[in-house]
Amino acid sequence: MAGVKDYINAKVGDNREKIEHHVREILKLIGEDVEREGLLETPARVTRMYEEIFGGYEVDPREVLGVTFEENHEELVIVKDIVYYSQCEHHMAPFFGKAHIGYIPSGQIAGLSKLARLVEAVTRRLQVQERITSQIADIMEEVLKPKGVMVVVEGEHLCMCSRGVKKPGSKTVTSAVRGTFRTDAASRAEFLSLIKE
Ligand SMILES: [Zn+2]
Repeated sequence: MAGVKDYINAKVGDNREKIEHHVREILKLIGEDVEREGLLETPARVTRMYEEIFGGYEVDPREVLGVTFEENHEELVIVKDIVYYSQCEHHMAPFFGKAHIGYIPSGQIAGLSKLARLVEAVTRRLQVQERITSQIADIMEEVLKPKGVMVVVEGEHLCMCSRGVKKPGSKTVTSAVRGTFRTDAASRAEFLSLIKE
């Protein structure tokens, strides 16, 4: 399990001027004229965009789940179709799609909107889809201590569409399985059929 320092780093907001400077340098190095009108505001716009798409670095995803409720419900809880938008760490190109989280509580449940915030906290970073999937499962397990967790993430990767293999529209699906879902095929099947509906 990763420590806090693996989740929290410098904030874009603390480094705006430096980031703008370096974006301007990259523009020059690819052969652009940074004085032309269309590019004048680009370094500032890119920096503002970074504040949003890399906003996850400001957040400890475990705190996002935060306050949990005591509840006797011990049946499967699913939050599906959580839309996310992330950046591939190999190309700094977007990938995006939907995350589906299912868990069987063991006394502790999280507010349903908190699961969406957890997804936001782990995806607004440089990431790979496999790690997003396992981090969500690990954090759910660590904070809620459920009987089981299952996470499925679907993603479309622009670095795959626009370069290299060039397969527009192809989807990558990753899953992580923890606790009783590992041994209980019926629970896995129930989760998978419910996220398809
Ligand atoms: Zn990539």
